Amino acid sequence: MSGIYVHIPFCKQACSYCDFYFVTKSDQKENFIQALIAEIAALEGQLFTEEVATSIYFGGGTPSLLSADQLGRIIFELERVFRLELDELTIEMNPDNVTPYYLKSLKACGFDRISMGVQSFSEKSLNFMNRAHDRTQALQALEDIVTSSFKNYTVDLIYGQPDQTSAELQEDIDQLMVFNPPHISAYALTIEHNTRLAKQVELGRVKPADDDDVADQMDLLAKILGNYGFNRYEVNSFAKERFQARHNQIYWTHGNYLGLGPGAHSFWWPKTPVEKERLMGYDMGFFRGLSSEQPTALRWSNPKDFTGYIHKKNEYQKSIYTLVESISELSLAEEYIWLGLRTSRGFDRNVLAERYNYKCDAKQQKRLESLVKDGKIRQSGESFSLTREGVRIADYIALDLLS
Ligand code: SF4
Repeated sequence: MSGIYVHIPFCKQACSYCDFYFVTKSDQKENFIQALIAEIAALEGQLFTEEVATSIYFGGGTPSLLSADQLGRIIFELERVFRLELDELTIEMNPDNVTPYYLKSLKACGFDRISMGVQSFSEKSLNFMNRAHDRTQALQALEDIVTSSFKNYTVDLIYGQPDQTSAELQEDIDQLMVFNPPHISAYALTIEHNTRLAKQVELGRVKPADDDDVADQMDLLAKILGNYGFNRYEVNSFAKERFQARHNQIYWTHGNYLGLGPGAHSFWWPKTPVEKERLMGYDMGFFRGLSSEQPTALRWSNPKDFTGYIHKKNEYQKSIYTLVESISELSLAEEYIWLGLRTSRGFDRNVLAERYNYKCDAKQQKRLESLVKDGKIRQSGESFSLTREGVRIADYIALDLLS
């Protein structure tokens, strides 16, 4: 089973913390759609379209800056070229794009899940992050979703902002709970290179939140959402029963996915020698020049070049892809442990042995035993997952186990 990620790179304005690839050239939407449709069409008959795709995720940028008609044309082409048996079709939206009519039109296109970028209800926070929407629009957007036929949606929140108090975070959560969403993704604000926020920090105009305060806010959030009946099934993801995101599971379990649009990333782990041979370029010419020591899986991306992307629309060349990483079996095994520790499912030694040909060494076994003893990891048979206390230091534990 595989997933398809479609990157829609348009944004109204730059949020201060964002390092995703986006452009503000809203007059180029039609050229972009044509280029995207050409990219999809060029994949016809290729390896990636042979595997059944169970999920499509429209992310960005801001996919909701496209009209339902434009989105429908993209979906139509995906349906024509790929083998789709979808159990999730998600679109990321920003609150200032939501209207009841738009939601209805998205439903008619086939979308069944919305990812709503609220981030905060506080005007102070929204201004600080330079979000394009305000509190009133965030409330109205959620009201519109709740009264629409979309039952499956998630809301993004950002905590750990400079000067944000726990009381302010609690207000955000209380406000969100009024709408009783089935899923929440909550992220600590991070300072990424080449963002306005990084510049503000560098110039001393903004002081990042203290790490301990951020960890306390994370605990507070997990506790409150737990009380509201949410299951924390991944470090940043909280869901009511039956509402876990399916697309992300593909990323977390090394499922294959194909990224379309400028800057989109792809991952493919071929299942047979023939598939591998095709992937490595004997058939498609994507990755000529790889060393004879062939990797187990590949990651690649489309360049972050909007102008180049739209100009390729009439003669789409797959050679635009850039190899990001050729991944060995050992790296995949280590990723599986790291990704597993971020989810409530954890990692399983049997899976490690069977799928990744990997066995924990004596040092790792010893570390695991001591983490279990310290209450940071829980063991169930051959499976290991983080306890609530362990989640607080998830990255540290992963590093400790893998170094
Ligand atoms: S809307 Fe999303 S993608 Fe666009 S700048 Fe803001 S955070 Fe980044």
